[in-house]
Amino acid sequence: MGSLGQQKPHVVVFPYPAQGHMNPLMEFAKRLVCRNVLVTFIATERIREQMKQAQEGAAAHVTSALQDIRIETISDGLSPDCEKTKDVDMILDLLKKVGGLTFERVIERLNSQGDTVSCIVYDSFLDWVPDIANKFNVPSAFFWTQSCAVYSIYYHFYTGMVKAKDEAGKMRDVITIPGLPPLCQSDMPSFLQPSNTYPSLLKLVLNQFRPVSQATWILGNSFNELEMAEIQSMDSLIPIRTVGPLLPSAFLDGNNPQDQDVGTHLWKTANCIDWLNTKEASTVVYVSFGSLAVISKEQIIEIALGLKASQHFFLWVIRPDHDNEENNDIDDFLKGFLGETVDQGLVVSWCPQMAVLNHPSVGMFVTHCGWNSTLESLSSGLPVLTIAQWTDQTTNSKYIEDVWKTGIRLNRTRDGPVGRDEVEKSINTIMESEEGVELRKNALHWKTLAKKAMVKGGSSDKNIDWFIHEVITRATLA
Ligand code: UDP
Repeated sequence: MGSLGQQKPHVVVFPYPAQGHMNPLMEFAKRLVCRNVLVTFIATERIREQMKQAQEGAAAHVTSALQDIRIETISDGLSPDCEKTKDVDMILDLLKKVGGLTFERVIERLNSQGDTVSCIVYDSFLDWVPDIANKFNVPSAFFWTQSCAVYSIYYHFYTGMVKAKDEAGKMRDVITIPGLPPLCQSDMPSFLQPSNTYPSLLKLVLNQFRPVSQATWILGNSFNELEMAEIQSMDSLIPIRTVGPLLPSAFLDGNNPQDQDVGTHLWKTANCIDWLNTKEASTVVYVSFGSLAVISKEQIIEIALGLKASQHFFLWVIRPDHDNEENNDIDDFLKGFLGETVDQGLVVSWCPQMAVLNHPSVGMFVTHCGWNSTLESLSSGLPVLTIAQWTDQTTNSKYIEDVWKTGIRLNRTRDGPVGRDEVEKSINTIMESEEGVELRKNALHWKTLAKKAMVKGGSSDKNIDWFIHEVITRATLA
């Protein structure tokens, strides 16, 4: 790493190639660019192509969001033959081997063309990046894209400080971790639950901590006011600095009014705003399960019938890839359902979620509780109904209901989906009852605090300034 001289610091931001990881890291990249930092964002060739296709014909604010950020591509190593593979071990291994090599070439090129890299901010899923940073003698920042509660849980399990079984080898009913509320098994991230069927992913989430001591900084997409006890409890172990919620600025801090959309969508966004404009304030239920979860046919049917019975307007995102081998006859059901609810609802393949959540006619959010969607609901002041599917969503749902008190949680059982009656009843509770008013009040409280964290002088804003100062100092001393 060369000395900085008159140059801007140059931060390379490397997300895991998935929507829920690219979004916060792109918003972080924008915060850096606004503070006079040169940023290069790394995407795999496949993801870059998908982003380009998604942006074709998109509104100007979606495409302009990226104009100040340079995007470099690397290979994910997947040949056309194995593109559709679900073998997680193979995907991760190829990304490490082939992606790692092509990433090294990108760093070499950037350095040789005079854009000397000052720091690599890497997604904690990519646990091999610190070795590459070391090779180039560049400091690295470990970036955590989930909640600090989940950071603490995984760390305590990774180190063996907390175990799922007691001394007698019996599964504990309650898991106790400093700074967190008591958690029962169903509150834990699904990979740590006894029913976990993804051993590779459990390995991935725990091994994130393997190279953590090599990272110079640890950053997280949360904010102090939201997870004070969780953050403080990690201070004596591996302290994390929060720099979130990382969401388009126009909807939160307003520091950059141009930033109305994250700009990293992997699917074309539908124009549902015109439809929302025709609805009165707080009358629409927004439903989305994020970018990865494949909702079972049975669950789609129960949600559909619950929505219909609630008689509230709904805007429902059903991704184009919902239709897999297990779900192959769901389209017939949906066709009939949409015909029957044409005056009540709109179904789209993808939408600009932050614009939707902040639209005055949206009254609540039915969510899988991915961490981004959770932060987005809190930052938009919306009450939620949670139907968690897997990974950290179960823990986020627990917090939504019992800690932040902004929603109702419906848990799937092992035997089946959340039922239509529960869906209908919970929607009506949130949209129509005193309890719903209380949930909304709590959500608005978190919205105020989220904004406070990100505006000038707020806790996360100060942490971003601190990080840049650190990067500059190290680059200058080098
Ligand atoms: N999202 C979106 N449009 C949609 C659905 C989702 O822009 O129609 C965004 C959403 O705002 C969030 C991300 O996709 O930023 C999903 O991330 P999350 O962590 O909630 O869930 P994941 O996709 O990782 O399961």
